[in-house]
Amino acid sequence: MIRRGRRSGIYTIVAVHSTTLGPGLGGCRMWRYESSADAARDALRLSRAMTFKAAAAGLALGGGKAVISLPPGPPPTGRVRRAVLEDFGDTVSVLEGAYVTAEDVGTSSRDMSVIAERTKWVTGLPRRRGGSGDPSPFTAIGVEAAMRASCQRTFDSTSLKGRSVAVLGAGRVGSRVARLVTKSGAKVLLTDIDESKRSLARELKNTRWTDPTTALLAEVDILAPCALGGVIDGHNVDRVRCAIVCGAANNQLAHDGVADDLAARGILYAPDFIANAGGLINVATELDPGGYDLARTRRRALGIEETMAQIYEEAEHASVTPLAAAYTLARRRLAEAGTELQ
Ligand code: NAD
Repeated sequence: MIRRGRRSGIYTIVAVHSTTLGPGLGGCRMWRYESSADAARDALRLSRAMTFKAAAAGLALGGGKAVISLPPGPPPTGRVRRAVLEDFGDTVSVLEGAYVTAEDVGTSSRDMSVIAERTKWVTGLPRRRGGSGDPSPFTAIGVEAAMRASCQRTFDSTSLKGRSVAVLGAGRVGSRVARLVTKSGAKVLLTDIDESKRSLARELKNTRWTDPTTALLAEVDILAPCALGGVIDGHNVDRVRCAIVCGAANNQLAHDGVADDLAARGILYAPDFIANAGGLINVATELDPGGYDLARTRRRALGIEETMAQIYEEAEHASVTPLAAAYTLARRRLAEAGTELQ
C-alpha cells in the first residue's frame, strides 16, 4: 500500500509479504530514496526478508515492512515529524492488523508512541508504556551469538577473544555490537558515514576508527555489516578479505547469488535474517499472552547461536550455502502452516 500523507505530503509505504504464520510485523524505515519507486522496491524486498526471519525464528508472525520516503534534506523534526508519523499511523490503520509496525532505521520508540495515537497495530513502544522498548540491544545480543556460532564453524572455538571485527555502521545496533565484542576481547575496526560516531572508537578498548571502504575491504576475521543493505555486491565480493560475514543489516547481499560467490571464496556467510532476528524476537515477545518479559527475550535472542549452528550443519550436510539452508528452515516452517513461498 502506498499513500501520500494528507498532513505531510510525504509518501508512506507498507509492504505485506506474508500473513501465513501471523500478522506481517516489521519495522518502519524513515530514509531518503532517489524516488518513491525505489522506496517501494526497498519495502517489498525487506518485507520478504521479514517473512523468512520470523519463520526461521519460530515466531507466529508473517512478513511486513514499511518505508517513509523522505524528501532531500535533514530528517524531519518537531511538528513536521509528528505530521509524517500521524500520516504513517493512518496507513497502518487502513490495513486492519495485516501489518504491525515497529522501529527501524530512522525511527525510535518515541516515534512509535506518536504512531500509536493513530493505530493500535504498533509494537516497540517505550517500556514505561508496557512495550518492549528499543529492540537494538537484543539485535546486538543475537548478532554476537551468531558470531560465536560462526567462529565455532570457522576457527573451532566460539570465543571472540583476539578476533578482529570490522563493524560497518555505528548506529543503534552497530555501536552495541562493537561494545559487546570488545567486552568479549575482540579488536574492532569501526566506521560510519557519520563522523560524530567517531567518539565511540575513542571510548571503547581495542577499537580503531576508519573510513567505510577501508573497513569493508579490511583483512579481518569477521565483517559485520550494521548499516544499510546491499553492502556486498558483484563488484566487491572478490575484494572482501574476511573469514566470516556476520552482522545486523537487513539484505546485506545485493542479491542471493552473492552468497554463492562468498562460499566459493571460502568465506562463511551468516544469513542476515537469522543473525539479526533478536530485534524481532524482542517485539514478538511483546505480543506473548503473558506480556513482555526481559529474561525470556534475552534467552530467545541468545538461542540464535544454536539456530545458526544448526543452519551451518544442515548446509554442510546438504552441500548448500548457509543462506540456502536458512531458506530451507524457514520454508519448512511455512510449509507446516500450509504455504509454499519463493
Ligand atoms: P541506525 O540508523 O541506528 O544506524 C545505522 C548507521 O549506519 C547510522 O549511524 C548511519 O550513519 C550508518 N550508515 C549509513 N550508511 C552507511 C555507510 N554506507 N557506511 C557506514 N555507515 C553507514 O540503524 P540500526 O537500527 O542500528 O540498524 C542498522 C541495520 O540493522 C539496518 O539495516 C536495520 O534494518 C538492521 N536491523 C536493525 C534492527 C534493530 O533492532 N534496530 C533489527 C534488525 C535489523
